[in-house]
Amino acid sequence: MLSPEQREIRDLVRTLARERIGPRAAEIDKSAEFPWDVVDLYRENGLFGLLFDEEHGGVGASALMTLVAIEEVAKVCATSALILAVQELGSLAIKLVGTDDQKRRFLPKLASGEWLAAYALTEAGSGSDSAAMRTTARRDGDEYVIDGAKRFITNAGVAHVYVCFARADDGISAFVVEADAPGFQVGRIEPKMGIKGSTTGEILLDGCRVPADNLLGEEGEGFHVAMQVLDRSRPGIAAQGLGLAQGATDYALEYARTRETFGEPIARHQLVAGMLAEMETKCEAARGLLYRCGAAIDEGATGPDLTKLSAMTKLFCTDVAMEVTTDAVQVLGGYGYIQEYPVERMMRDAKITQIYEGTNQIQRLVIAREMLKEQRAFLLASS
Ligand SMILES: Cc1cc2nc3c(=O)[nH]c(=O)nc-3n(C[C@H](O)[C@H](O)[C@H](O)COP(=O)(O)OP(=O)(O)OC[C@H]3O[C@@H](n4cnc5c(N)ncnc54)[C@H](O)[C@@H]3O)c2cc1C
Repeated sequence: MLSPEQREIRDLVRTLARERIGPRAAEIDKSAEFPWDVVDLYRENGLFGLLFDEEHGGVGASALMTLVAIEEVAKVCATSALILAVQELGSLAIKLVGTDDQKRRFLPKLASGEWLAAYALTEAGSGSDSAAMRTTARRDGDEYVIDGAKRFITNAGVAHVYVCFARADDGISAFVVEADAPGFQVGRIEPKMGIKGSTTGEILLDGCRVPADNLLGEEGEGFHVAMQVLDRSRPGIAAQGLGLAQGATDYALEYARTRETFGEPIARHQLVAGMLAEMETKCEAARGLLYRCGAAIDEGATGPDLTKLSAMTKLFCTDVAMEVTTDAVQVLGGYGYIQEYPVERMMRDAKITQIYEGTNQIQRLVIAREMLKEQRAFLLASS
């Protein structure tokens, strides 16, 4: 599905991932420190630019290309892949409903990577049920005053731009909150199971003042904006999941080729060979869905069709990530369980892909809801 030019970009990202990011992955996991060196690598090689159009300082490489880049990096380091995925997540609302002025103010700095972005929807009491948020926004002259707190925000403390959702007079609304806004503070950063180099933290908004010009779209449109963003960002998490699954498969294959038991490589034992074959097949099926979703976004898919396709892609690729990374640990036996080998990290990293940007239970509900709107009665009529 990739053009020769897209393959060239993929190969560049693949080389950077293998040569520069892969060797850092274990250390990033162990230190649990945000990898600014990886951000610098992306800046130097124009990788953030893949996410943005030329008018705003990017290269306009397409949604499909963004997914391919995330997949390539996730094969070696899921934390580093998430930096690209969240730059997209945090920028999408500005791209989708931002005014020309907002796009000019924010997008070029995000395209160069000078600024990192974040997306702040979740609160302590509202994750899956995000419409139950309690954070409020009140208009005061030329400003909005935002009060509340957001939880589990990726890039907390490292982002400059936070797209933040709050309840205003006319309903949930979206705002760009800059990290230097008065009343903005980063709270606790959470220690966690995987993607350890990524910061996940609390955002405290205590009478936080933002210019009224930072309202994205209309007041009351925010929930719709949040969902439109997720339709386009969930495939990024799917790409992260697929990269993890393929990286684990590649590692398990090489291990199984050389590890011998009962006088032959374990890859020759049929039960192990069967696992490897299933892992590879699941990855290829996931890639088919992921690329189809990326191509659909590039062709302008929108509305219910995109909602369903994007949810299916996120669900399938991330369930594959969990299954395949778990199998990779099994292929390595005891060595799979110790930290000297990367598959235990991949298995821990894979778990979050089933949870964030809407849990996979929520994806199932979304898919079924869209299915129930479709008409297939002709099948019943003909039987
Ligand atoms: C590392 C990390 C990074 C994150 N990054 C961000 C970020 O950048 N921005 C952001 O806004 N949020 C972020 N999140 C939040 C994440 O999106 C939420 O944690 C997630 O949506 C689930 O919400 P919750 O944790 O409140 O779980 P809950 O909503 O309390 O759900 C608990 C369980 O119940 C299930 N459940 C809930 N409702 C239903 C239902 N109707 N039917 C069936 N099952 C249901 C869920 O699937 C889940 O298994 C992040 C979370 C983590 C852990």
